[in-house]
Amino acid sequence: MRQVNFPHWVRVTERGFELPVAIFDMDGVLSDATHRQGYLRASPPDWVAFGDLAHLDEPLEFGQREMARYRDDHCIVLVTARPIERSEGSLEWLARHGFAIDLAIFRPSADQRPSHELKGHELDRIRSLGGDVKVAHEDEIKNLVMYGKAGVNAVYVHSGYYEDGEV
Ligand SMILES: [Mg+2]
Repeated sequence: MRQVNFPHWVRVTERGFELPVAIFDMDGVLSDATHRQGYLRASPPDWVAFGDLAHLDEPLEFGQREMARYRDDHCIVLVTARPIERSEGSLEWLARHGFAIDLAIFRPSADQRPSHELKGHELDRIRSLGGDVKVAHEDEIKNLVMYGKAGVNAVYVHSGYYEDGEV
């Protein structure tokens, strides 16, 4: 496997980029974060409370079905803007709800970039290591646009988190 581990990349299985890659976002695609969105609308946003309650999210059926479609013959890569400090709880949640991830990519420690910049950079890294990214599932429009411009089949998942212009 030609895969390199960055500090914010967590390899979960030995499956890697010898398989085509299917990317999944987490919040709004695999996990239902609706019950804690209010913490982000506070002024200032309460990111700590928002993150602390993530273990209570319910899994989203669409995400479960989509992952099952790709599971057998793709490397399943989580690309999330959650910080690496949340990786342990996030991976525990994914396993508890039956999401079989091969590689999880989190936001690097202290990284403040907008989500689409962060995820665009990670897409470049995946490709530079030989990853053939076939599809990416996202609920945030700016991220969908980024993947689409990069030539990735971008699948929109409706979460309702971004409808008030707070993209
Ligand atoms: Mg999302």
